[in-house]
Amino acid sequence: MNLLVTAGPTREHIDPVRFLSNPSTGKMGFAVAEAAAARGHRVTLVAGPVTLATPPGVQRVDITSAHEMLATLQHLLPQCAALVMTAAVADWRPKHCSTQKLKKATMRPTLELEPNPDILSTLAPLKQQRVFIGFAAETGNPLDEARRKLKTKGLDMIVANDVSQPHAGFASDTNQVTLLPAIGPPQALPLLDKLAVAHHIIAWLEAYSASGASRNANAERSPAL
Ligand code: C5P
Repeated sequence: MNLLVTAGPTREHIDPVRFLSNPSTGKMGFAVAEAAAARGHRVTLVAGPVTLATPPGVQRVDITSAHEMLATLQHLLPQCAALVMTAAVADWRPKHCSTQKLKKATMRPTLELEPNPDILSTLAPLKQQRVFIGFAAETGNPLDEARRKLKTKGLDMIVANDVSQPHAGFASDTNQVTLLPAIGPPQALPLLDKLAVAHHIIAWLEAYSASGASRNANAERSPAL
């Protein structure tokens, strides 16, 4: 299968040396890419700025901002059967990005923000028979919030995790998640290292694709396609 995987944060620049971002390290997305390649899939990894080595057998495209990630995915998605959207996309970007470094001695800039596009929702018209998997890193009530995102973003499955739990956060090497498919029961996994979690996700994708459920789910969502 040709798989598209995203990982890491995006950076939204204020000026050439300052940006808005988040603490994502890319570990979970890189683990997904590594597991998929090890299982024989052709993987393209679209990565935000991270310090991780490219997993063996994975083709990597580096991007910086949410807009660059969206444009890259729009270009690559037509050749792929599935998208695993692990990236922690920055929710907002500065309305204006200065091409020159802002001078702290003489300026008191105010930051006007505008929302970034929701990448999964924007890609929905290209989805057709493709399988879309999202991630929901939540605090509080992860399953309810993940279920809402599964529906609103039109996904086949969402991986929900409570990032307030010890050993399940951004920089951790382990994760504790629940796989929440649009069709079928949730699958709660124990605390595992991120590579083991990634193998569960890719195993789910393989079984789902082989069952033809993705075609049925998409036909139900968009009967005209
Ligand atoms: O940030 P949020 O909790 O909404 O992320 C849920 C899913 O949506 C993740 O898979 C994330 O990669 C994706 N996302 C997106 N575009 C955004 C924000 C998040 O596709 N602007």
